[in-house]
Amino acid sequence: MTKRIFRSILGVTLVVLAASLVLVTGVLHGYFEDQVGRELAARAAYIARGVEQSGTEYLKDLPGESRITWVDSDGTVLWDNQENPAAMDNHAQRQEIRQALLAGTGTAARYSDTLAQKTLYYALRLSDGSVVRVADTQYTVWAMVLQAAQPVALMMLLAAVLALALASRVSKQLVAPINQLDLDAPETAECYEELSPLLGKIRSQQRQIRRQMEDLRQRQEEFAALTETMSEGFVAVDQETRVLACNPAALRLLGAQAAPEGESVYALNREAPFRRCVEQALAGRRCEVLLESEDSCRQVIASPARREGQTAGAVLMVLDVTEKERRDALRREFTANVSHELKTPLTSILGTAEILKTGMVAPADVEHFAGNIHRQTQRLISLVNDIIRLSRLDEGGDLGPWESVDLHAAARRVLDRLTDAAQGKGVALTLTGGGAVVRSVPRIVEEILYNLCDNAVVYNHPGGSVTVTVENGSDGARVSVTDTGVGIPREAQSRVFERFYRVDKSHSGGGTGLGLSIVKHGAAYLGARVDLESREGRGSTFTVTFPPERDGTCVPDDSVVS
Ligand code: ADP
Repeated sequence: MTKRIFRSILGVTLVVLAASLVLVTGVLHGYFEDQVGRELAARAAYIARGVEQSGTEYLKDLPGESRITWVDSDGTVLWDNQENPAAMDNHAQRQEIRQALLAGTGTAARYSDTLAQKTLYYALRLSDGSVVRVADTQYTVWAMVLQAAQPVALMMLLAAVLALALASRVSKQLVAPINQLDLDAPETAECYEELSPLLGKIRSQQRQIRRQMEDLRQRQEEFAALTETMSEGFVAVDQETRVLACNPAALRLLGAQAAPEGESVYALNREAPFRRCVEQALAGRRCEVLLESEDSCRQVIASPARREGQTAGAVLMVLDVTEKERRDALRREFTANVSHELKTPLTSILGTAEILKTGMVAPADVEHFAGNIHRQTQRLISLVNDIIRLSRLDEGGDLGPWESVDLHAAARRVLDRLTDAAQGKGVALTLTGGGAVVRSVPRIVEEILYNLCDNAVVYNHPGGSVTVTVENGSDGARVSVTDTGVGIPREAQSRVFERFYRVDKSHSGGGTGLGLSIVKHGAAYLGARVDLESREGRGSTFTVTFPPERDGTCVPDDSVVS
C-alpha cells in the first residue's frame, strides 16, 4: 500500500510538473511573439521616417540586424538589405504588403520548415505610397524549448527528487496508522474516519467466526463422543486420502498405533486390498474388502462422500468379522461333510436295493442284503439325529427346562442303556463316586454322558473296562468317564471335538464323528467344561466339570453298575 501511495503521489507530481512546463512554454511563446511584433512596429516607424527624409541613403547606413525591404506601391522591390532587389519577385501579393497598401500597416508570420524558424513581418506605408517592411525571425516554440532544455532538465530533476522525497515521506505517514491497527481488537483502533465502516465489518465478522468456531467445536466433541464408543471402526478421508476423522476402534481393527492427524489413511494400514478399496471409493464407487490375517478377519466398507455432485472424499467402516467368517467356514465345511456322510450309506442302500430288484438273489442271501439296508438306514437315522441335536445346540434356543439334575442317577441311566453293547464287547461298566446335584438341562446332561460312555465302550478292547466317577470338587460337580481302550494320539486330542473328525476311520466303530461335537456344544450350553486326558494304547479319561451350584449337594454312594 505504501508503494502504491508513493507511486501515485510521484506520478501526480510529475504530471503536474510536465503540464506546468508545457503551459509556461506556451505563455512565453505568446509573450515573445507580441514583444517581437511591438519591436518590429517601432523599428518600422523609425526607419520609415528616415526613408521619407533620405531615401536609400538612409537605408544603406542602417546596421544589418533585421531584414529591411522597401517596396514600391506597385509591389516592385526597391531595396533589400539581404538580397538583390532586381532578383526579387513582385511583393504586391505578400500578405503584409497587401494589408499595408490598403490600410497603412500590415503584419504576417511565415514558417520555414527547412530552417525550423518563424519569420515575423511588419509593413508600413509611406506618404508616397511605397511600403517599408521590417522582418525578424523568432525561434519556434520547439527551438525555444530546446534552447531552454538544460535549465529545464535541471529544474525537472530537482523537482522530481523533491517529489520523490516528499512522496516517500507522505506515503509512510499515511500508511503508518493503518499498519498500527490491532485487528484482534478493532474496537480499540483509532484511525481514519473513513476506515470506521471497515473496522465495524471486521468486528462483526470476528464475532461471527467465534460463534461458528464454538459451534464447530461442540459438534466435533459430540461426534468424537459418539464414534469413540463404537465397536465398529470409522474413518473419514478427503480427496487426497488425508484422515479427517478416525475413531479408536478403527485404529485397533486396522492395526495402527496412533491416529495419523492430517496424514494419509494408508499410514493406518498398508495392505494392498485396503489401498485398492480406498482408491475405488475416491473414484466414486462403493467397495467392500476382507482383510485377513492369521487370527482375525476384518471387513472394510468404503463409500464415496459426495458434495455438489462431486466425490469429495470417502467414509470407511471397519468391522470385525472374525467370528462370522469362522462360522461361515465351519458351516461350509459342515455342509460338505454332511453331504459326504449321507452319500456313503445312501449309495450302499441303493446298490443293495438294485441287486434285490433284479430278483436274481438267492432266497438265502435276501436276509444278508436286507440286513445291510437295515444297518445303513440306522446309520443314516443316527447321523440325521446327531445333526439335528447339533443344530439345536448351535441355534442356542430353548433346549428344555433347567432343573436339578442328579448326575449320579443320570450316569446310572446311561450305563443301563449301554449294558447290552458293553456285554457284547466284553467290557465292564462301573459307576463310582457320590451323588451330585446340579442345576442343568437333564436331556443335554444325558446326551453328553451317553456320547462319552458310548465312545468308551466302542473304542475299548474286549475285556476292557469303563469307569464313570461322579464327585463334587471345589470347582464344581464333576463326572469323569475313564476307559482302558485304544486311547487318542496326542496330536489328535485337540481335534477330536471337531465335527466329523475321526482319528482312524477304519476303527470308527460306525460312529458319525459328531458325538464329541455334541458333547462340546452341550457342555458350552450348560456352562460346563470338558477336559481330556489320554494315552495311546492305554485309554482315555473325559471329565465334565459343571459350574459350582450354591444349592449343590453331594451324597456319598458307592453303587456299581456293570
Ligand atoms: P464317533 O461317532 O466317530 O465316535 P466322536 O465325535 O464321538 O465320533 O469321536 C471322534 C473320534 O474321537 C472318534 O472317531 C475316535 O477316533 C475318537 N474317540 C472318541 N472317544 C474315544 C475314546 N474314548 N477312546 C479312543 N478314541 C476316542
